[in-house]
Formats: sequence, C-alpha cells, structure tokens
Amino acid sequence: MAGESVSSGCVVDLKGQVAVVTGASRGIGRAIAERLASCGATVVGIARTLEALAPMLEAVRAAGGVAEGHAGSVDSSADVARIVDAVEAAHPKVHILVNNAGITRDGLILRMEDDDWDAVIDTNLKGTFLFCRAFGAIMMRGRYGRIINISSISGIAGNPGQANYSASKAGVIGLTKTIARELAARNITANVVAPGFIETDMTDVLPDKIKAEVKDRVPLRRLGKPDDIADLVCYLAGPGASYLTGQVIAVDGGLTA
Ligand code: NAP
Repeated sequence: MAGESVSSGCVVDLKGQVAVVTGASRGIGRAIAERLASCGATVVGIARTLEALAPMLEAVRAAGGVAEGHAGSVDSSADVARIVDAVEAAHPKVHILVNNAGITRDGLILRMEDDDWDAVIDTNLKGTFLFCRAFGAIMMRGRYGRIINISSISGIAGNPGQANYSASKAGVIGLTKTIARELAARNITANVVAPGFIETDMTDVLPDKIKAEVKDRVPLRRLGKPDDIADLVCYLAGPGASYLTGQVIAVDGGLTA
C-alpha cells in the first residue's frame, strides 16, 4: 500500500451545496466532480460538449449523486453568460467554483506562434477570470463561497517549452491572490492548487522516456493521479478550510520541495 495513490472516499460533508467544475469531462476535473458529488454536493460540470460530459454524469448518478452538465467554451464570454444564466435559474446559490479547464500548446518561445499563445492564455487564464467574475458575483450575494483554481507547478517555477502555459498558470496565481483579498469580506475564500505531473490525457502524449525521467525526480517516486488533486480540492471546499485563503498549494510528490 505504501507509495500508492489511494482514493480516500469522502469525509467532507457538502450536502446542500452546489459546485461548478470546469473541464469536468475527464482527467483531473472529472475526478474532482465525482469526488465533490460523493460528498453530497450537486455538481454542475462544464466542458465543450455534452457528449464528453456524459460519462462523468453517468458515473455520478450511478453512485447516487446529483450532477448536471453544460456545454460551452470557458474562454467565450457569450458561452459563460449563457451557462451562468442557466445555473442561476436552477440554483439560487453556488457555493463552490473549481476552475480546472485547461490546455497546453507546447513549444520553445522562439518558435511559438501567436495562436498557440492566445489559445492557452484565453482558455487557462481568461476562462478562469470569466468564471471567477460571474460566479464571484453570485457568491457575493450569497455571502459564502469557495473558489479553487487549478494552476500548475509550471506557473510557479516555469518550464522550458511552456512559455504560454507557464504564463497562464502564473496569471491564475495572481488572479486568485487578488480575488482572495477582494472577496474575503463576504466570506469567500480563493485558493490555488498547483499539480505536478498527473497521469491524464494531457500528459499521456509525452514520451515514456520523459515520464520516467520525471518519476525519477519526484521524491515520492510516482506520478500523480487525478484523485490526488481531488483530495485537496475537496478539503479546500469543506469546513476545515474556512480560514485558508490566498494560498498556493503544490500537489507534486515533493517535486518543488
Ligand atoms: P485533460 O485531461 O486534458 O482535461 C482537460 C479538461 O479541460 C477537459 O475536461 C476538457 O474538456 C476541458 N477543456 C479544455 N478546453 C476547454 C474549453 N475551452 N472550455 C471548456 N472546457 C475545456 O487535462 P488534465 O490533465 O485533467 O488537466 C486539468 C487541469 O489541471 C488543467 O488546468 C491543467 O493545466 C492542470 N494541470 C494538469 C497537470 C497534469 O499533469 N495533468 C499538471 C498541472 C496542472 P473537453 O475537451 O471535453 O471540452
């Protein structure tokens, strides 16, 4: 058992709460959505298509949870406005927002195209801003909120080949620290989770040699699982984290220790 990632099940009670999770169709976002639902939250999952969200929705419902899906691109103001209207019409309050949707378009800076820069900044940073602004307003009215933004250790330390991605993820940290200060008076916390190397579609494309090298550098000697991130997000969404805001927590097996 030692050294293995084990889903701990949920000990945090989120019954009666509504949680919006972007990028909930797969990978880390799906694990977060399923975990929050298993703790009793009604989960509102966002991805670009409803088809992509279907397996997550089915899994939540099969486990006795409650989840709904909305299709839209997080970088589109029009899509976000439509999603927010629909969520508000169905739920008077939103308690938890997890901005997880993200993409990579890696390449060295000297060869990076404008499109690669714009797409990554728009999805990872502007998307997080649009959701924080919209749901921040709803949380302000409800005088309660937990905002959890998914950054990356690349946003803390930088990473060759990821100028666009690292800039977007560093931006998420600055955005989150600022809204933590702006919204604190209304009992809204905002924190960043910065994953290290987690096994998902995003990292599956990397050559095995690179994965083995990363694993060798991780003090805990394994790559991360989506559940490793879901565990912390769940804690941050729960009552035990009520005095914790404006923080960046790396979940990376000690890589940045
Ligand atoms: P993934 O498996 O590629 O999943 C990405 C998710 O984001 C999917 O649900 C995707 O949904 C959604 N998404 C992408 N663009 C979107 C858009 N424009 N609008 C709405 N949804 C969109 O990635 P992951 O590894 O789980 O990563 C999740 C988050 O963790 C990202 O922010 C990533 O940067 C961060 N992170 C990951 C790692 C890692 O090692 N995996 C490390 C550090 C940070 P559809 O494609 O279905 O629309």
